[in-house]
Amino acid sequence: MARIDLHLHTRFSDGSLTPVEVVDLAHQAGVTAMAITDHDIVDGIPHALEAAAPLGIEVIPGVEISSRFNEQELHVLGYFFDWQDSTFRDHLAQQRRSRQIRNPRTIERLNALGLEVTEEEVNAKAGSDSIGRPHVAQVLVDKGYVQDTREAFDRYLKEGAPAYVPRTLSDTREVIAWIRDAGGVPVLAHPTWTRCQGEPLYRLCACLKEAGLLGLEVFYSSHDRRQTSRFLELAKRLDLLVTGGSDFHGATNPGIQVGRGKGNLKVPDTLLEPLRQAARP
Ligand SMILES: [Zn+2]
Ligand SMILES: [Zn+2]
Repeated sequence: MARIDLHLHTRFSDGSLTPVEVVDLAHQAGVTAMAITDHDIVDGIPHALEAAAPLGIEVIPGVEISSRFNEQELHVLGYFFDWQDSTFRDHLAQQRRSRQIRNPRTIERLNALGLEVTEEEVNAKAGSDSIGRPHVAQVLVDKGYVQDTREAFDRYLKEGAPAYVPRTLSDTREVIAWIRDAGGVPVLAHPTWTRCQGEPLYRLCACLKEAGLLGLEVFYSSHDRRQTSRFLELAKRLDLLVTGGSDFHGATNPGIQVGRGKGNLKVPDTLLEPLRQAARP
């Protein structure tokens, strides 16, 4: 059974590599199909399509959209949508603007804490207009204020930390509708990130399914065997499609490889056809 990777980031959001470089790594890892799922942006897709075609790798249109549901931030992955759909692209542009409004306020708070960071430095870290906290974190690492980006989030940037600024996020149900309206398949990303497990997670997924959710990210770099089988069961119970990917970011999140995660990830290619079938032609 061949392996696929449906969760990859590039320089178009907070990854460290270009789409072409990520395609190259996918090729080396023996990946037969892949999706670039940058945060709130689809501009990396054409680059990946072009690089992957001669290698015989299928590139599925993908995206990862931040949203809010009952006071918690949820990430929704989208697949097989029309990435050139102008209404869909307008929604993403609006999402990116909401990040940009937040960035100067985050920087102000860091400055007030005595950390010298400028907007220019943060913008220079980004490869597109999808600019957010990961780029601020990279500047904090470069300047020696923290050891790594994880420490940057823990000490300053995460919810509840002193430089955290809440962001206006669209409701998860709305985001699901954007993806469906563009003909795509909405999937709840990394369910371990939600603040609930067990029955509460079941109820959350059931509620999102009612709003149009079609899939659950079951295979993921940080899921252990028990978690994977629990999420498989949950997907089955709710008749949700199963997806998986590494959430590769390159140097931004070291230790995770394309197609292999932390070494033991294998997303089977048999997941692809049901996903394709669920998309609106
Ligand atoms: Zn995510
Ligand atoms: Zn991601």
